[in-house]
Amino acid sequence: MNLSLLDPVTAIKGIGNETAVALEELAVTTVLDLFEYLPFRYEDYRLKDLETTEHDERVTVEGKLHSQPSLTYYGKKKSRLMLKLLTGRYLITVIFFNQPYLKSKMNINDVITVTGKWDRHRQMITGNECHFGSHKVENEFEPVYSVRGSISVKGLRRYITNAFAQYGALLEENLPDSLLTRYKLMPRPNALHSMHFPENAQTVKQARRRFVYEEFLLFQLKMQAMRKIQREQSRGIQQIFDVEKVKLFIESLPFPLTDAQNRVVNEISVDMTSPFRMNRLLQGDVGSGKTVVAAIALFSSVTAGYQGALMVPTEILAEQHAHSLKAMLEPIGISTDLLTSSVKGKRRRELLAALEKGEIDILIGTHALIQEEVNFCNLGLVITDEQHRFGVQQRRILREKGESPDVLFMTATPIPRTLAITVFGEMDVSTIDEMPAGRKVIETYWAKHDMLDRILHFIEKELRQGRQAYVICPLIEESEKLDLQNVLDVHGMLTHYYAERFHVGLMHGRLPADEKESIMKQFSENETQILVSTTVVEVGVNVPNATVMVIYDAERFGLAQLHQLRGRVGRGSDQSYCILLADPKSENGKERMKIMTETNDGFVLSEKDLELRGPGDFFGKKQSGLPDFKVADMVHDYRTLEVARDDAARLIASESFWNEPQYEQLRQSLEETGVLNGEKLD
Ligand code: ADP
Ligand code: MG
Repeated sequence: MNLSLLDPVTAIKGIGNETAVALEELAVTTVLDLFEYLPFRYEDYRLKDLETTEHDERVTVEGKLHSQPSLTYYGKKKSRLMLKLLTGRYLITVIFFNQPYLKSKMNINDVITVTGKWDRHRQMITGNECHFGSHKVENEFEPVYSVRGSISVKGLRRYITNAFAQYGALLEENLPDSLLTRYKLMPRPNALHSMHFPENAQTVKQARRRFVYEEFLLFQLKMQAMRKIQREQSRGIQQIFDVEKVKLFIESLPFPLTDAQNRVVNEISVDMTSPFRMNRLLQGDVGSGKTVVAAIALFSSVTAGYQGALMVPTEILAEQHAHSLKAMLEPIGISTDLLTSSVKGKRRRELLAALEKGEIDILIGTHALIQEEVNFCNLGLVITDEQHRFGVQQRRILREKGESPDVLFMTATPIPRTLAITVFGEMDVSTIDEMPAGRKVIETYWAKHDMLDRILHFIEKELRQGRQAYVICPLIEESEKLDLQNVLDVHGMLTHYYAERFHVGLMHGRLPADEKESIMKQFSENETQILVSTTVVEVGVNVPNATVMVIYDAERFGLAQLHQLRGRVGRGSDQSYCILLADPKSENGKERMKIMTETNDGFVLSEKDLELRGPGDFFGKKQSGLPDFKVADMVHDYRTLEVARDDAARLIASESFWNEPQYEQLRQSLEETGVLNGEKLD
């Protein structure tokens, strides 16, 4: 009989139909699936020194029973067995829940081995396992699999053992020799065996190292193959700029571009003048000067005879952008206009007609831009600001308003390099990684809530000098569950405190749009000196006279969001301050507050945020679109990811990858993307 790794699992000894159905739940249907069903962690049974064991870490220790264990029952069938164990220099407490039978087997001075969770503060282990006698080191590591239903870890181990006996010889390598030698990678069959039957820490490490590289490489090959095809198949507009005019425009700006701005302007121009459709992400920290880059791109497109659109998430922001673009572009004869849901009636009809006739060169707006009635004459470039605020769907609708307009996404939430590589692998990324010269660094302080009095004095001092302040609170209504400060309360408190001296405005998401607008206007015209707000002012708002940002319960926010909020100040020439009011309980919370006071660099913060919160939380689980790696970890294995990305780029661009037999297996892995048979993507 011919054996194949694609045989159904029932071909393996011990796996019947019932088991096969249960295995299907784990997405294991073929023999190969079973081989590739890797442990997600290992139980480490090596003895550890408690001295170097972290709080909450799992440990195995061997020790001598110091006293007779005591057993207490509580509730129905619940019990707690407590004993004192002398291990090394430590006399520790060990507790076993609901294993009363252990008691009868234990006598003073017995040597036992206990595995469980170490509570450093209480010098206590909550035990899971207990072995009588001295520790045996035959199996230092035991693989732990994620299992469900009737499948047990023990059963799974048995099936895999049988799979190796019957099919082990069929396992193949999928990486070319050149890569195996270059990185000294363990061959695939050996690596699979070592993952399932680890001999020691070293072999597991080597096996894991191989799979991390393999996973990243395959993933990157897919992304980059897709990007290549997308590029080559897109029928974009080849925009022919009036280069002289564009140069003059750049020279006419009140400041020279930074090197980083020049670089990204170039990258964008290359895309727009190419026959491919641009699909580019522009990221740059708050205040790094993305707006002017957008203006240059929009202007360039107009010199090529096209219209441009700039879409932003809020009306406030749309107005601000419309205002600054108008100031830059109208003097040189470019017509700009603003479309939001507040533009109504006759005014709206006139605007839409002018747009369709091509009398408006650049349209700035909110979601209103993507309504059906909005028709461009010949849209060449679409820019969306703060791209993470728009859904994929909305971006597509806007893109479809033109033939195949070039698309630029801008974001001030710096995406950690790791995630940029993974999530935006199919997009080109431009980064402004430099601030315009002469910016003052915002001074950031972390204060406990009981220092509020001093902070109120400090705010007052700034206000007396004509400055303004934001006070941000996380929630707008009292919630018993989350013991958060309430904007309404804070507003009331500040109104009372500064009565007769300063005006305090109140802003939150539940207010109607026109009311938000007028509150914002009052603040930007310094009719109110303090603005108490929820995070609705997080994005893009620009009031250069505001120099103080106070954030209540700052520990509730992620680093990226705190950084965005902080970016609302420091926009003028005066020294600005950010005060984080926080009494974080967790180490993680304290760490975040500390990092905020130490750096103003959005990229450093985003990397830290990713480290502290993990990739899922960074974007929000649902929309993250993050790939599910079995072995690799994007944060910790970041270097390998970079290496794999470069290797993939090299391979995809090379002739040999698409032709030579040594890459056959890798090419096969691209099958599902459709790039092999030239299927259309999108
Ligand atoms: P963001 O990237 O946050 O959108 P903006 O485009 O709003 O930043 O720019 C912030 C401020 O910096 C604006 O007032 C802008 O005029 C100014 N700016 C932009 N580029 C430069 C530059 N190269 N030199 C000096 N100031 C600049
Ligand atoms: Mg901006």
